[in-house]
Amino acid sequence: MSQFWSPFVKDLVPYVPGEQPKMTRLVKLNTNENPYGPSPKAIAAMQAEVNDDLRLYPDPNGDRLKQAVAEYYGLSTAQVFVGNGSDEVLAHAFHGLFQHGKPLLFPDITYSFYPVYCGLYGIEPKQIPLDENFQINIADYTRENAGANKGKIGGIIFPNPNAPTGCLLPLAAIEQLLKQNTDTVVLVDEAYIDFGGETAIALVNQYPNLLVTQTLSKSRSLAGLRVGIAVGHPDLIEALERIKNSFNSYPLDRVAIAGAAAAFDDRAYFDDTCQRVIDSRDTVVAGLEQLGFDVLPSAANFVFARHPQKDAGELAAALREQGIIVRHFKTPRIAQFLRITIGTDEQNQILLDALKAL
Ligand code: PMP
Repeated sequence: MSQFWSPFVKDLVPYVPGEQPKMTRLVKLNTNENPYGPSPKAIAAMQAEVNDDLRLYPDPNGDRLKQAVAEYYGLSTAQVFVGNGSDEVLAHAFHGLFQHGKPLLFPDITYSFYPVYCGLYGIEPKQIPLDENFQINIADYTRENAGANKGKIGGIIFPNPNAPTGCLLPLAAIEQLLKQNTDTVVLVDEAYIDFGGETAIALVNQYPNLLVTQTLSKSRSLAGLRVGIAVGHPDLIEALERIKNSFNSYPLDRVAIAGAAAAFDDRAYFDDTCQRVIDSRDTVVAGLEQLGFDVLPSAANFVFARHPQKDAGELAAALREQGIIVRHFKTPRIAQFLRITIGTDEQNQILLDALKAL
């Protein structure tokens, strides 16, 4: 706190990212990074960008990346936005696409950046409880936008699969939600969709109110590069461009544009590494269940698990003493869960052995 802070800054409640410890020899299973490195072709493309041209500004539109994304999904580049991590893309969507002065609907248990962006942009949050099985029930959202309240919501956002639960909403449910809420923007945050879900990008040509965001931090293993994308109707994309061009014209540097485009182009490496993570997830789930954990069904590169007899906070602390870091949220309803990122088979085995000993 300082006398030089504006009242606005004093009232901000910032997001707290998962720990990035400086210690070495860790089994780091706390921030859902990919255990396998980025595509070798992406690394080569980035290395080739490190040259004298770095004295020049990058392409403000990141067209090379937009083309790679458009080609990957069979879209036009006018349907694609690119930004500095999907967090930045989400921020622009909060700023430019959700109606201020009307409640924004999102799950009570979800990505904890959503309430932070609500605070930053002055949007009223309205949390919709997950059901008793920690699932999103789309009827709960439609009910908020019905009868006398019809047209009085400022938007809908949720991750699919949800975070930190890992639970997936089928594409048919998302389409039903879109059909029932044509008067408001529906943002599907697909940070983890490539680990077993079906992308809602398939619906963007039919629903002009649908925006889908994705990240290259997880399935494309480029968390350190900071690249995210949004896909939707050109009018929605134009709103994001207007915000971006009023904030930072060059969110992606030359290296990031080249590396991210090459990562989208290298489908074989992407398919192979995603499948490896999915296979390892099956092994981790089976191992945890054998130890007595309840594990929510996960379509992500992490699992959300609780033990009926063991305190989650104590388990996380005990694992940490052995250099194994998992994520524990001390929040209502989920304080007895651990969120565990799927690592290499070796890391997963170290985790399971440590839990067994505990
Ligand atoms: N959405 C969800 C649901 C996430 O878990 C994350 C990662 N913390 C993000 C978006 C942001 O990812 P990034 O900014 O690395 O693209």
